[in-house]
Amino acid sequence: MYRYDIAVIGTGYVGLTTGACLSSLGHRVLCADVDARKVEQLSRGEVRILEPGLAELVREGLAAGRLGFVLGAANAVRDADVVFLCVPTPMGEGGAADLAAVESVVEEVRDLLPPGCVLVNKSTVPVGTAERVAELIGRPDVSVVSNPEFLREGSAVHDFLNPDRIVVGAQSPAAAERVAALYARLGAPTVLTDAASAELVKYAANCFLATKLSYVNAMAELCERVGANIGDVTEGMGYDRRIGQAFLQPGPGWGGSCLPKDTQALLQVAESVGFDFTLLRATTDSNARQRERMVDKIAHACVGPHGSLRGVRLGLLGLTFKAGTNDLRDSPALAVATLLREQGAELVAYDPALSVHQAELTEVVRLLDEPYAVAEGAAGLVLLTEWPEFRALDWGRMANLLAGRVVVDTRNHLDPDVLSRAGLSWHGLGNQPVV
Ligand code: NAD
Repeated sequence: MYRYDIAVIGTGYVGLTTGACLSSLGHRVLCADVDARKVEQLSRGEVRILEPGLAELVREGLAAGRLGFVLGAANAVRDADVVFLCVPTPMGEGGAADLAAVESVVEEVRDLLPPGCVLVNKSTVPVGTAERVAELIGRPDVSVVSNPEFLREGSAVHDFLNPDRIVVGAQSPAAAERVAALYARLGAPTVLTDAASAELVKYAANCFLATKLSYVNAMAELCERVGANIGDVTEGMGYDRRIGQAFLQPGPGWGGSCLPKDTQALLQVAESVGFDFTLLRATTDSNARQRERMVDKIAHACVGPHGSLRGVRLGLLGLTFKAGTNDLRDSPALAVATLLREQGAELVAYDPALSVHQAELTEVVRLLDEPYAVAEGAAGLVLLTEWPEFRALDWGRMANLLAGRVVVDTRNHLDPDVLSRAGLSWHGLGNQPVV
C-alpha cells in the first residue's frame, strides 16, 4: 500500500489538473471527490474534461501508483502532509462567493488531519477565508495556506507546469515555504506573502483581465461610431509593453466559470468594507450591455433595423465560453443565444466540443453534429466561439446553403476577404460604421 503525501479535494478543472501535475512532478497524490461516478471513471483513467495532456498524465500517474482517486475527502487525508482544497466557490446570494463546499470539507476532515498537516486553499475565496478556515479547524498544529490557482481552461496542464508565478500566503512562513517547495522544480517566480494578500491577488488579477476586456469591447463600439478599425487600434496599443497584446480581442462579452463570479465576489468584498468600487461595477455593467449589443447587431444584420427575429432561423457557430474547452458555465455565447431565443429566433448550433445530446441546451438551441447543417436555410450565421476550425470551413459551400448571405462574427475571427469572395456579407466588431 502506497503512502500518499498529498491529498487533493475536488477533481474538477483545478483539482484534477493539480493532482495529475503534482503526481507528474513525483509526488504521491490521492484525489477525492463527492461524485462517485467521477471517482470510478477517473480510477479507470477516464477523463471527461477536455484539457490537452490531462488524460495522459492521469493514466501515467495511475500506472505508476503515484495517483489515486477515492470517494469523499475523509478517505483521502489521513496520511497527507499537505491537503489541497479545490472545490467550487460559485456565486452565492447577492454575488458573494458561496463557501459552503469549502466549509463542508473542512468540517469533514478537521479531526482526521495528521498532526502538523498543512491545509492549502486553491479554490478562489474572498479575503479572510484562510483565517476563517483556521478558526473552523481550531487546531494549532494545522496551518492554513492560501495558494490561488491561475490556470486557464483549455491549457490547464501547460499553465500549471509553466506558471507565470506561484503565490503562497500564510500566517506561518514555514507552512508557506513548505507549499512553495512543492513547486520548486517549476522554477517560477514565487510571491510569499500573508494569506489575505494571496487571496486578493487572484481576484485582483481576474478583475483586471475582465476590465481590460470590457475596455476593448467599449473601444470597439467607439471605433464603429468614429469610423476606426479596432484590429489596428489594438495592434497599435499592444506593442506597448506596458499593455501587451493579450486580452485585447473584442468579443460577445467575457464569461466562463471564473470572471463573472470573481468580479461579483470582489464587488461584495469591497462593499463589505464600505468601498464603492465604481470602476469594477462599470466593468460588469458594460459586459451585460455587450451581450445585448450583440443581439442588436445580429438582428440588424439579419432582419434589418425594424425587423423582428420571431421565427427567424439563425445558425450559431460555437457555444462554449471560449475555444479549446467543453465548459459551458456562464458562456457569453449561450447568453447571447438565450437573448436571441427570447426574441423568438429559431436557433440551431454546432460546437466541436459538444455532443448533440447535451440536455441543458435543448431549451435554447438545437445542436447539430456538423457545421454545414447549421447554415442550411438560415437567415444568417453567427460566430460566437473562436474555434480555429471555423476559419477553415468551405465558405462557398456555407454561402450556398444559407438563405440570407450574412455572417455576424462576434469574435472578429474569420477572414472577411474569404467571406466576401464567397459572396457573404461579414459583420464584425469595431470595424464598420453603425447605421
Ligand atoms: P469544478 O466544478 O470543475 O470542480 C469542483 C469539483 O469539486 C467537482 O468535481 C465536485 O464534485 C467536487 N466537490 C464539490 N464538493 C466537494 C466535497 N465536499 N468534497 C469533495 N469534492 C467536492 O470547479 P473548478 O473549475 O475546478 O474550480 C474550483 C475552484 O478553483 C473554484 O474556486 C474556482 O473559482 C477556482 N479556479 C477555477 C479555475 C478554472 O479555470 N476552472 C481557474 C482558477 C481557479
